[in-house]
Amino acid sequence: MGDSEQQTTATGPGSIEQFDAIVIGAGVSGLYQLYRLKQLGLSVRLYEDASGVGGTWYWNRYPGCRFDSESETYGYSFSEELLHEWDWKEHFSGQPENERYLNYVADKFDLRPYIQFNSRVTSAVYDEKEHRWEIRINNSQRARAQFLVAAVGILSADYTPPFEGIESFKGISYHTSKWPKEQVDFTGKRVAVIGTGATAVQLIPIIAKEVGHLTVFQRTPNYCAPLRNGLVDPETQRRFKATYPEIHKRIRETPAGFTHDFDPRNALEVPREERLALYEELWAQPGFKKWLGNFHDIMTSREANEDFAEFVRNKIRARVKDPVVAEKLVPKDHPFGSKRIPLETNYYEAYNRDNVLLVDVRETPIERITPKGIKTSDAEYEFDVIIYATGFDAVSGALTRMDIRGEGGQTFKDRWADGPRTYLGLQTAGFPNFFIAVNTAFCNYPVCAEFVCEWIADCIRYMREKGFATIAPTPQAEEAWIEHANELASRTLLSDAKSWFMGSNIPGKKRALLLYANTAPAYRAKCTEVATKGYEGFELE
Ligand SMILES: Cc1cc2nc3c(=O)[nH]c(=O)nc-3n(C[C@H](O)[C@H](O)[C@H](O)COP(=O)(O)OP(=O)(O)OC[C@H]3O[C@@H](n4cnc5c(N)ncnc54)[C@H](O)[C@@H]3O)c2cc1C
Repeated sequence: MGDSEQQTTATGPGSIEQFDAIVIGAGVSGLYQLYRLKQLGLSVRLYEDASGVGGTWYWNRYPGCRFDSESETYGYSFSEELLHEWDWKEHFSGQPENERYLNYVADKFDLRPYIQFNSRVTSAVYDEKEHRWEIRINNSQRARAQFLVAAVGILSADYTPPFEGIESFKGISYHTSKWPKEQVDFTGKRVAVIGTGATAVQLIPIIAKEVGHLTVFQRTPNYCAPLRNGLVDPETQRRFKATYPEIHKRIRETPAGFTHDFDPRNALEVPREERLALYEELWAQPGFKKWLGNFHDIMTSREANEDFAEFVRNKIRARVKDPVVAEKLVPKDHPFGSKRIPLETNYYEAYNRDNVLLVDVRETPIERITPKGIKTSDAEYEFDVIIYATGFDAVSGALTRMDIRGEGGQTFKDRWADGPRTYLGLQTAGFPNFFIAVNTAFCNYPVCAEFVCEWIADCIRYMREKGFATIAPTPQAEEAWIEHANELASRTLLSDAKSWFMGSNIPGKKRALLLYANTAPAYRAKCTEVATKGYEGFELE
């Protein structure tokens, strides 16, 4: 244990451990935040609900789970040693390897002694006199710190629709983001999957081959695009390692933190044949290139978007043998990219199998879960297993599920009732020294998460150097940021869809864009500018 650990008080019944900083969450963000704060010489403790590190890559163990970012761009960039030690096995790495990677990071940087697992932070209350946060873990143990950093994840608060009768089901139910560690045997089983988002699209083609029969309940068809994964051969591995500086320079310059960049031309100004040739070329490439390497106006011009959307629809039609099923799988009610584009491997071919049935719940809604299975408006289906691939209460969910109380006893949940209220996505007025280490830029996650954690660590270092005890945004700066973010959002097509981007997958959640609709470089430049100007828009005392 380092010096920092010695600054804490001993534990004992009723005692309250004291730290300089507390971090919540041991995913990509929390681990790096812990590392940076430890480097400052702070006493830090990280509390994590799970029994291990990994966050997203700990919880989501469903078959087929992987990231859709290129592996060489998803890993941390802060340590040259780490970059050279770690070999990515696949171009788009799967959950088991991602979890191993984050365990490797935790061990390499000696983070584990500072983490307490199986520890859910249930509340956090600000003590205005002492300028300290007091948190409760699992509703009992207490700890206090000057700084509280919530690295609780963007997609970590899982959501299951409140179907009537859900508890009555006699078979086994799973939520994809709380998947068991033991292998699930689907052999010969009658299985239901509810939902067809990015997770289900990864899961379905794999379990379709194992189950006796699979029924997929779809509400909204998505524009799924081929992932085109493959193994990283030794030559490519060497190339990654030799060119990491160039790769990192590139992903810090592009709009979304990937190596892809938009074509600067307006789609419809390019002759049709040339346009279609580019679409085909993009389609043949791996990853998000078809989205983020497309014409720049596909996310702002309805006509440009519709042109590419129709191209994608025809790709779907060409892969599904039964034209009636194909039409059900073709999205027609939202623009391409206004919902997260699922990347897939043999997803549409799964519907060509005799043991797979698609049920469109917009035609025949689910009425209830029964002891035997699922009852829609026109039939009752019997199952051994129901899989809820029903997603997350994104961005705000993990924060508002904690009872966080700031100045004057105001609750975080109330402050965020009409959507996220932050300045720069980093802090909320009235909650001093409470930092949100959840990346909300449209960005390859770790690329911007590293930046956010560094910004927070730099801010804390600045405060300590200058002798400030607290930092919080002014209400005016917060309001101006929200207006600016809303204005940017209104220039995109994102609000044309019901999606987790807009919070509209959760009944009763106020519809608001949960992400910041600017380029990642513009976001980082703004945060850096604010810091350079002595934390303009923040009140430091
Ligand atoms: C299936 C899936 C695939 C994804 N694919 C990609 C991709 O291809 N590219 C990409 O850029 N991003 C992807 N993401 C987004 C992904 O979440 C981020 O890439 C990244 O892993 C988030 O890291 P994080 O540390 O911020 O949050 P998380 O990894 O979610 O970690 C947050 C941690 O906080 C813990 N926590 C939350 N609340 C509490 C509490 N009250 N008390 C204690 N602990 C708490 C959780 O248990 C969790 O372990 C994907 C997400 C999912 C779910």
